[in-house]
Amino acid sequence: MQPSESERPERYSPAEIEPKWQARWDADDALYAAEPHDSGKPKFYCLEMLPYPSGQLHIGHVRNYSIGDALARFMWMRGYNVLHPMGWDAFGLPAENAALKNNTPPREWTLKNIAAMKVQMRRLGLSYDWAGTEVTTCLPEYYRWNQWFFLKMVEQGLAYRKSSKVNWCPDCATVLANEQVVGGCCWRHEETLVEQRELEQWFLRITKYADELLDGLDKMPGWPEKVRTMQRNWIGRSEGAHVDFRVAGMANTPAITVFTTRVDTIFGATSIQLAPEHALVKEWVKTDAALAQAVDEMTAQQKVARETGDIGNIEKHGVSTGKQAVNPFNGEMLPIWVANYILADYGTGAIMSVPGHDERDFEFAQKYGLGVKRVIAPNVDTDELALPYIGEEEAVLVDSGEWTGEACLEAQEKMARFAEEHGFGKKTTTYRLKDWGVSRQRYWGTPIPMVYCKEHGCVPVPESELPVLLPETIVITQEGGSPLGKVPEFVNTTCPVCGGPARRETDTMDTFVDSSWYFYRYADAKNSAAPFDSEKVNYWFPIDQYIGGVEHAILHLIYSRYWTKVMRDLGMVKHDEPAERMFTQGMVIRNGAKMSKSKGNVVSPDDMIDRFGVDATRMYALFAAPPDRDLEWQEEGVAGVSRFVARVYRLTSKFAPVVVQMEGGAHGDEIAASAFAGQTPAGAKLLRTLHQTIAKITEDFSGRWHFNTCIAAIMILVNEIQANETAMDAGEISPATIAEVFKTLVLLMAPFAPFVAAELWEQMGGTGVLFRQPWPVADAELARESEVEIPVQMNGKLVVVVKIAADSDEEAMKREAMADEKLIARLEGKTIVKIIVVKGKMINFVVR
Ligand SMILES: [Zn+2]
Ligand SMILES: [Zn+2]
Repeated sequence: MQPSESERPERYSPAEIEPKWQARWDADDALYAAEPHDSGKPKFYCLEMLPYPSGQLHIGHVRNYSIGDALARFMWMRGYNVLHPMGWDAFGLPAENAALKNNTPPREWTLKNIAAMKVQMRRLGLSYDWAGTEVTTCLPEYYRWNQWFFLKMVEQGLAYRKSSKVNWCPDCATVLANEQVVGGCCWRHEETLVEQRELEQWFLRITKYADELLDGLDKMPGWPEKVRTMQRNWIGRSEGAHVDFRVAGMANTPAITVFTTRVDTIFGATSIQLAPEHALVKEWVKTDAALAQAVDEMTAQQKVARETGDIGNIEKHGVSTGKQAVNPFNGEMLPIWVANYILADYGTGAIMSVPGHDERDFEFAQKYGLGVKRVIAPNVDTDELALPYIGEEEAVLVDSGEWTGEACLEAQEKMARFAEEHGFGKKTTTYRLKDWGVSRQRYWGTPIPMVYCKEHGCVPVPESELPVLLPETIVITQEGGSPLGKVPEFVNTTCPVCGGPARRETDTMDTFVDSSWYFYRYADAKNSAAPFDSEKVNYWFPIDQYIGGVEHAILHLIYSRYWTKVMRDLGMVKHDEPAERMFTQGMVIRNGAKMSKSKGNVVSPDDMIDRFGVDATRMYALFAAPPDRDLEWQEEGVAGVSRFVARVYRLTSKFAPVVVQMEGGAHGDEIAASAFAGQTPAGAKLLRTLHQTIAKITEDFSGRWHFNTCIAAIMILVNEIQANETAMDAGEISPATIAEVFKTLVLLMAPFAPFVAAELWEQMGGTGVLFRQPWPVADAELARESEVEIPVQMNGKLVVVVKIAADSDEEAMKREAMADEKLIARLEGKTIVKIIVVKGKMINFVVR
């Protein structure tokens, strides 16, 4: 059985194995192709977030894709029809910056980067259906459908134009969405303060779906709670009431509408606070120079606080306007103030200040000597109560006229209704979520398909004229608005209504438009008549597993949920949410920090592959930490995994001839499990470990995804195999068992280390594509432990752990325990009062 020295297989060499298999896989476009949607098979849509084509994969990509690839291969082996696509999020600013720097057109730069990254991805052996699915968002075949969707949204009133204050990054020279402002700075330029500018912009009406986007989060158990919480906060729904306060003695002045979540505390209001930019304040400063100056100062303070992202912690200042408002519930006169912590664009830009029951109002009232009133309390008879007191569910109203004694929550309802009945207010809901501003004054994006005619105003480009092509050659400068505005051939067009001269819209779309629906296009990437065929999409969707970074929890993952709802309402898809399950992998860090060029701690995937091979690099990325945690990259770790793979290779190669002789080669049938009968004790133990490993990995793939412990389990199995090597050589383990062990080992390795697994499968005479072989099935009988460890206690304290047969009954357990010498010694001179036995778990001797 022992191969002679000359027959012994060569050493493990990923540099030979991996290119050989890559070449074979690359030559076969059908290898990873999904079967048609009407194949009748159960489907599995496995999706990793598409990369921005920077030109270089980083090690974080390798981790993300290794998770998805392992899952896709596993699902194929389980018999599913798997869609495993990949594409490029190819529009965006870096291409323009590179154009400025290197004088390369953005398109050329982008396509070159895509080609380079595709080489890296192929080298990694990732199982993408390139031929069938590849989507490149900067190509007209794709972005024409962005334009098509935009026109649909214009038709539906979901896309509209308005002038508004926008976030402006001077470095990007473009508008940023609120979501792209991080702590007052640009999300791409962490040091650049974002400015506020007034501009005409296109918006998508995401707020129409605010409630659905929020309520849907409760019905998405397959999404991480962390992501759902971030989305809830971002949408920021608060229930409350609008109440109108008349301005005393000024009959022609409109009433001040405040938004409050606690109308039940309105009897405790002691002032009204307006934002510096409130319409009334703008009016009043015209005739009050002192007020004007104070308001200017507060506006400036707000601007600074906004720009530094500190608006929540702004040092509170205010000034009285000298005017008074009337509380409509009790007729009380309240002074009207202007305060720098009230924002014009949040709620109505006006609040009622209730210092007795609000921390912020209390702080302000203390500073300016405004009154503090107690109008709610734990119960009507409460005598003393420290203010501010923020009770709600457990509190009742006091000193609140006819409402005194009402529970707060009920009073909120009743008082809002009362205000509505009397014409000075109503129940209302506000949101933090704002409509999505999609206009960008940049070149490298989807042109917005609208034209401006003197006669007919803003007119949509007819669907039949799509795509509005982005000119390919262009001089990019960073000044003076959109680069497209400087291309006369682009700008000058004719009005679709009158045929007269018209100008094209020169803004392009936010690149988050591209990523909002790209995964639908994957299901029908070649369609030239529509974004996709609904039948195909309805088969593949929702995505079964989406995998990506948690940094996309709010932007991309909210926008794509919105897009799905729009498409549903257009009758294009049947589902409400794009993805059934979402997984957010942790970051790859090194020396305790996020990798960055400036820190000099970047790990290059190519370097790892050159030194250790793809299989070891990928396996390490899965093994070194649970996939949802951060992973500290350590080269010694990759080297260790590489040695492990080499060991698998040596052992399997050595015994491959046994498999070939045994069954004429490995083949696609399910592997027959050997039985314990006739095995040596070591052989039986090996079989047990084998089946336990199958069970563990199978279970982990369907839920916990602790690939780190899966790979650890394979390592234990391989140790066990190695411990039996001599027995195998000596013929003490049957050829059938040897064949079962090695075939199963290779199948278990296939999702994690596809190259070496394919190579070994071939050496064992395996036919067919490895990852289309049936996944091994654990035999429960073989997997069951023959012995279990039972803790033996005396009066609840551990004395000893004994090993007994797993199927021992209670009497047998007692017998085994009482035969233990350590226990015998401890029991000496004591009286056993009772013996508590939990079958298969523990024994406790209660003694005196
Ligand atoms: Zn910027
Ligand atoms: Zn016209």
